[in-house]
Amino acid sequence: MTELLPVREAQDKILEIFQLRQPEVCKVELAYHRILAENITSPIALPPFNNSSMDGYAVRSEETRDASPASPVTLPVSLDIPAGYTQQGVLAKGTTARILTGAPIPEGADAVIPVEDTDQYKRPQTGPMQFTVSFFKSAKPGDNLRRAGEDVQLGQLVLERGRRLQPQDIGLLVSLGICEVKINQKARIALFSSGDELLLPGEHMSPGKIYDSNTYVLTGLFEDAGAEVTHLGIAKDNPESVKNTLDQALKNPPDLIVSSAGVSVGAFDYVREVIEANGRLSFWRVNMRPGKPVAFGNYKNIPFIGLPGNPVSAYIGAQVFVLPIIRKMSGLAHLDQRCMQVTLLDPLESPDGRESYFRGVIKKEDGIYKASLTGHQGSGNLFSLVKANCLLVVPAGVKRIAAGDTINAWVLDTELD
Ligand code: AMP
Ligand code: MG
Repeated sequence: MTELLPVREAQDKILEIFQLRQPEVCKVELAYHRILAENITSPIALPPFNNSSMDGYAVRSEETRDASPASPVTLPVSLDIPAGYTQQGVLAKGTTARILTGAPIPEGADAVIPVEDTDQYKRPQTGPMQFTVSFFKSAKPGDNLRRAGEDVQLGQLVLERGRRLQPQDIGLLVSLGICEVKINQKARIALFSSGDELLLPGEHMSPGKIYDSNTYVLTGLFEDAGAEVTHLGIAKDNPESVKNTLDQALKNPPDLIVSSAGVSVGAFDYVREVIEANGRLSFWRVNMRPGKPVAFGNYKNIPFIGLPGNPVSAYIGAQVFVLPIIRKMSGLAHLDQRCMQVTLLDPLESPDGRESYFRGVIKKEDGIYKASLTGHQGSGNLFSLVKANCLLVVPAGVKRIAAGDTINAWVLDTELD
C-alpha cells in the first residue's frame, strides 16, 4: 500500500509548480471579478468639486443666523444652478442661489438649506424661480455640502494589486476617469470526465448509465474561481480513449488538465496508468475523506490532476487542490478558503483518522453559529452538497468530535436561509 500523503503536503507539492500568470490590459467595463495586477492611485479628487448634497438654496450661512419658523429670513434669489452647471457661479452678498443635488456650490456660499426648510417646499422645483425665498431654519458653515476630495484625495491609493474587482470597484474606476486596468490573465484548465457509464445531458438514459454531472460542477467551480475552462469530453474506460482525450489538450496547451474518475484501484481505472506511461505521477493517494484517490503529475509536461469520480469527492478535491491553483495563478491575494468556527449540533465520526470533510448547514441561533449535517454523507450523494452551505473539517488524527464542540467550517458560496 502506498503511503497516504497529508493534505497540506499534497497542496504544497501541487502549488509550488504553478506561477502567477502574466498581466494583460483590459477595458474597465470588462474587468468585473478579474484580479487587479497593479495598484491604482487616484488621478483626481472625488468629488472633483464642492457640490450640494440636497435640493435647496446655497447661502452665506451667517446671513441665515436668526431664521426660525416664527421669524423666517427672506433673501432674493440671484442664481439658478442645476446639476451639470459648468460655470463657476458667484453668490452676490445678501442673496441666495437655487441649487440641485450634485450641482457646484457657487463661490461665496458656505452652506445649503434644503428646500424642505423654505417656503418653496411643495412648489414644483422644476418651475420658474421665485423672486425671493424665506428660510425657516438657519444654516451652519458646511451644512449639506460635499467637499472636493472628501471621498478620495488626489494621488490616494484606492485599489490594491491582488483584489478581485467588485462592481463598486468598477464604478470607482469609471468615476476616476480610468478606462483601462492591468489584470492578471486567467488560469486555463482543460477538463474531462472518464467512464463507460457516462452520458451527456439530453442523451437517452438506459440501465447502468448515469449522466456526467462532474463536468458541470467542476466547470462552474473553476469559472467562478476565475479560470477559463475548455472541455475535452468523456474518455472511455480504455487506455487508447484516455490517451486520445488527453492528447486533445496538446493542441492548445492549458496550464492544467483536470479529470474526474478512473484514478482509483478498479480494474478499469486507466487514467493513472496512462499518466505514468506518458508523463510523471508524483502522488495519487491523499489522507482525506472523501477524495483519497487524487492523482497529481504531468501528461507530456502539462500539469495534471486526476480527481475521484464520485461527485462529492470530485467537488471536495477541486475545492482543496484546484481552486488554490486558480487563485495563485490569477494573483488573488488570498489563497485559502473562507473559514469560520462553528458549534457542532451533530457528533462527527472519522474512525480511521483521515482529514474528513462533512457537508453541513450553518445557522445562527441565539447569536451563535451552529452547524448540523445535511443528511447521508455518501460521497456519491450530490444532493447532500446542494443542501450544504459549508464543509465541516475534522483534522487528521481526530477520530470523533462531540456535539457541542467547536469545529472549523469552510464557508461555501451558496445562498441558504
Ligand atoms: P471511478 O473513480 O471511475 O471508480 O468512479 C467512482 C464513482 O463515480 C462511480 O460510481 C462513477 O459512476 C461515478 N462517476 C464517475 N464519473 C462521474 C461523472 N462524471 N459524473 C457523475 N458521476 C461520476
Ligand atoms: Mg470509472
